[in-house]
Amino acid sequence: MNRVYNFSAGPSMLPVEVLEEAQKDLVDYQGCGMSVCEMSHRSKQYDAINNECLALIRELMNVPENYSIILVQGGGSTQFEAVPLNLLSKGKADYVVTGNFAKKAFKEAKKYGDIHLAGSSEDANFTYIPKELDIRSDIDYLYICQNNTIFGTKYPYLPKTDAPLVADVSSMILSEEIDVSKYGVLFAGAQKNMGPAGLTVVIVRNDLVTDGMPICPTMLKWKTQVENNSLYNTPPCFSIYMTMLNLRHLKKNGGVKAQQQINEYKAGLLYDFIDNSSFYTNKVVKEDRSIMNVPFTTPNADLDAAFIKEASQNGFLSIKGHRLVGGMRASIYNAMPVQGIKDLIEFMKKFEIANK
Ligand SMILES: *Cc1c(COP(=O)(O)O)cnc(C)c1O
Repeated sequence: MNRVYNFSAGPSMLPVEVLEEAQKDLVDYQGCGMSVCEMSHRSKQYDAINNECLALIRELMNVPENYSIILVQGGGSTQFEAVPLNLLSKGKADYVVTGNFAKKAFKEAKKYGDIHLAGSSEDANFTYIPKELDIRSDIDYLYICQNNTIFGTKYPYLPKTDAPLVADVSSMILSEEIDVSKYGVLFAGAQKNMGPAGLTVVIVRNDLVTDGMPICPTMLKWKTQVENNSLYNTPPCFSIYMTMLNLRHLKKNGGVKAQQQINEYKAGLLYDFIDNSSFYTNKVVKEDRSIMNVPFTTPNADLDAAFIKEASQNGFLSIKGHRLVGGMRASIYNAMPVQGIKDLIEFMKKFEIANK
């Protein structure tokens, strides 16, 4: 077996043990004579998978009783629309734009109400998280993107507001402990830290599970899935199954707290190396750095291109930065082993010596 280190921002690596577990059961799931891919979502076997996935999310994230968890499709991006359609009752919401995904969410919301920009870091190409926000008092919700995948920033604080806080946590869910009770709504696509693409997890405080705006489509209404245990229509069964296996694996390895320590250690190794180097640079304000996505550059664009090419030839895949930032980006989600970071740093050292 020749596995590579996949530094992609998503879909990303999954633990080999999880892939092997799925492989073992792929053709004949636990003696039922068929694969989870072929199974009715109304079957007893699938019901157990669905319930275990939901229960593991609740347990691992310590989700309070007064919150519902739903499993939906459409990716994080569909929630950019679902959020305003479910939550705008007074018709007003504030958004903080800290990157491309927050900007997209802001743009979608503007179709549905009086949406105000409470803060932005676009003036410095999103290399920091704004600390002074202009939040209105009579809003339905405040929206943030807590970890900015493309730009490598993360909120070092949670904004203060009496309104429900809505957070896109697509690229940080299960990577560190968070206090769910501080939020009204959390959502995340699975393909970064949870499982394969196709599944999106939404966690909603129960008082926010309503009929939403009259124009809210049934399929985007959180209440539809809450009332149907996420089985209103055919769910992405196999993605949910794989996510369930990955959550079991996370639990067995000490849960989110243990994973957070590993993640902080991994990110620390890489940032320390970059900060002590005169060749590599990370432009993000230090206290706002993400522990999941680490953008960096060499002294010039030609060297960046050479780095990406040679990295890929050496088994460090998808390390090219997003076109909005350039350079490189190492996405180091939960499944990236510590050894992957150590090997990357060794490669970076060699590349620097050869190209200085
Ligand atoms: C990847 C990502 C998205 C988009 O997710 P899709 O599932 O591709 O729609 C949204 N927000 C953040 C923070 C992301 O990292």
